Amino acid sequence: MYEKFLIIVDPQNDFIEGGSLPVSGARSAMQQLAEYVRNHAAEFSTIFVTQDAHPENHCSFTANGGIWPVHCVKASSGFEVFRQLQEALSGSDNVEYCQKGTDSAVEQYSIFSYNGGQITNPDGQKIISAIEKTSSPTIVVCGIAGDVCVMNTLNDLVQIRKSAEGISVAANFTASIDGGEKLEAFCKENNIKLLNL
Ligand SMILES: [Zn+2]
Repeated sequence: MYEKFLIIVDPQNDFIEGGSLPVSGARSAMQQLAEYVRNHAAEFSTIFVTQDAHPENHCSFTANGGIWPVHCVKASSGFEVFRQLQEALSGSDNVEYCQKGTDSAVEQYSIFSYNGGQITNPDGQKIISAIEKTSSPTIVVCGIAGDVCVMNTLNDLVQIRKSAEGISVAANFTASIDGGEKLEAFCKENNIKLLNL
């Protein structure tokens, strides 16, 4: 069996220009992704959408000793998926939403939060279980921010799969804080294909 999966990392309002932790180019990347989803959603067996879902007192916020401004607080507008993408996704029945960073004391850049050989986030386990039902899956990863949560997600994925085979990044649907250098270097180093879809 051959199956294709799409993992969209944190396409949330707070990471879009105008949000509390904006990444330059995120709006344009998510608009292009919305258009792609409208035309290609049916090609994927599942589209996984990850979401940072923080409580107000999350440890990653500067007021609590972290390095980021307050962002993606659950039930706030900044937590919501970018509207145009949300509308495109709502036309498909193969979309699953996954949450991370829900524990105030734990930072989770990756939905898998792969730690000590364990997938510590149950929503990440759900993704891996779906992928592992297939013998040669194709996994396309994109989202925000390329050099933080997308890269950490990829790093975990390669470790869990013990290979980068079938894993690629949709560069045109990804926005990075650094403009993309770190992600590009990471992909080269790990033999992950960078695509423009
Ligand atoms: Zn966060």
